[in-house]
Amino acid sequence: MFGWNGSILNVDLSKKKWFAETFDADFASTYLGGRGFAVRILWDRLPLGTDGLSPRNLLIFATGPLTGFTLPNSGKLVVASKSPLTGGYGDGNIGTFAAIHMRKAGYDAVVIEGKADNPIFLVVKDKTVEFLDAADLWGLTTFEAEAKLRKSYGRASGIVSIGPGGENLVKFACVMSQEGRAGGRPGMGAVMGSKNLKALVIEGSGAIPAFNSQELREQGLAGYREILAKPDYAFWKRQGTLGTVEWANENSVLPTRNYQKGVFADADKIGGYAAEAIKVSNRGCPNCNMTCGNVVKDAEGREAELDYENIAMLGGNIDLGDMAKVSALNRVADEMSLDAISLGNVLGFAMEASEKGLIKEKIQWGNYGQAKSLSEDIAYRRGLGGILAEGVHAAAVKIGKGSADWAMHVKGLEISAYDCRTAPAMALAYATSPIGAHHKDAWVIGWEMQHDRFGYGAEKAAHVIEAQHMRGIFECLGVCRFPMVNLGLDREWYPKYLNLATGQQFTWDTLNLIAERVFNLMRAFWIRESRGKWSSEMDVPPARWFNEPLTSGALKGAKLDKTKYDGLLEDYYRQRGWNANGVPTPTTLEKLALSDVAKQLNP
Ligand code: SF4
Repeated sequence: MFGWNGSILNVDLSKKKWFAETFDADFASTYLGGRGFAVRILWDRLPLGTDGLSPRNLLIFATGPLTGFTLPNSGKLVVASKSPLTGGYGDGNIGTFAAIHMRKAGYDAVVIEGKADNPIFLVVKDKTVEFLDAADLWGLTTFEAEAKLRKSYGRASGIVSIGPGGENLVKFACVMSQEGRAGGRPGMGAVMGSKNLKALVIEGSGAIPAFNSQELREQGLAGYREILAKPDYAFWKRQGTLGTVEWANENSVLPTRNYQKGVFADADKIGGYAAEAIKVSNRGCPNCNMTCGNVVKDAEGREAELDYENIAMLGGNIDLGDMAKVSALNRVADEMSLDAISLGNVLGFAMEASEKGLIKEKIQWGNYGQAKSLSEDIAYRRGLGGILAEGVHAAAVKIGKGSADWAMHVKGLEISAYDCRTAPAMALAYATSPIGAHHKDAWVIGWEMQHDRFGYGAEKAAHVIEAQHMRGIFECLGVCRFPMVNLGLDREWYPKYLNLATGQQFTWDTLNLIAERVFNLMRAFWIRESRGKWSSEMDVPPARWFNEPLTSGALKGAKLDKTKYDGLLEDYYRQRGWNANGVPTPTTLEKLALSDVAKQLNP
């Protein structure tokens, strides 16, 4: 087989045993890799109703068939699991040398189950696996742990780790690598912590099998050259995604004060130009020539790596208009392995709860010191931090008093950084995202600002579906979407690369079909786990966007219309081939070669 190693490393931490398992070409071309492999493995192997933090849960690191080749932005892997935060399918992608080393070690995925008796770290070196004592790593931040491991395993080794947030099972803890690369928002770091697994170190020395490696390399280099020639390249290198702050503010979609508003008076103080003023360097994922991580000097004099979502949520959403302080909160999140988006979300929720007198703690909007110490309390589950560590949905259930109406999440995953009162398609994208509210699975808001912005027409449902599939393809291929999505790299490079890697004949049509299959399987996973309790109410954004109009800015008074939203959701279901509850019909699943899944969902 070309393009894939055809091998998955299975590790049982309870038994300290491992074995390599092969898969065939049919599995590879049906699910492609990354998220596709992860969801199929979870569907097949995870016992129904397994708790997200149970030793039986599976923690999956999966690369794609383009990971590690010399071609644009190919240093990605997906980390996936049943989410302890949402109870559904959860994943995220990370750019890390671990992805490339995994492929060079001869594996396409590593599947970890069980729980070690004591904290350990796992070392995979080509065909050997070691279970090593992590007593002197446990309790360290991700920065400290990785630095210590690099002393033993070298600067170029692949390392992913968790900090205290993951160790203490914060439900939105993520997995970190290389001081700023984060992934697995729905609590994949907590799953790692629940297994007493501090870090995974991978070193591979082999070659990744390619059908035509020389041509693949030449075409890969041509792709890099095309990126360098893009007109927006220079500005991207200056600001990456950070320029989105000003754009979001101008369009009244910048989360402000826990989504009470879509306009932030101090947006210019946390935007792309404010970042440039304190910028130190660029950082990014391996095999990337458009590194989007803006490294700045933060308020504590340390380096912090920024992107739009984190800054919007730790800035405007908590009313903090100081770039250096926002950056310092971002650094705390990365050190602790807390997802920075969810952290900003729960901090905003706590500040609003304090303002309304629903909690005894006094936490003021925009108070950096209080936000920082509360972030640390979350990581260590101290006091109010212990409540917020369960995520905003659970915190609202605990606090009660109507707070569920302004707990900003979908299916339990905290909403990332776009206010959608004036963006119905983006609201639909959040509401139907396969991991809960996350922008990466359908960023349609840029398109929507240009296309009947306030409308609820069926073409919006169609565009959300198209975007969900397109983005899903990247989650399976093991490459970053930004060259195509943000700089306009010709999309035909991707099937070309895939065909040179595998020797097969993929097109965008065949890739879209795979993405649709994977999307439906993720949905089936959620529905199966709901054990008969699934309904279309799972696909509705937070009540605040329907009930409370924007209170400032050019679009003051605007809000979502529930009746029209329901009509848009119906269109979405119809176009997807799902029933009125949002369940894929047997016909749809059979069309996607998921007949076995159809039988389980419709026994
Ligand atoms: S563009 Fe950013 S996210 Fe994408 S590979 Fe490069 S550094 Fe990573």
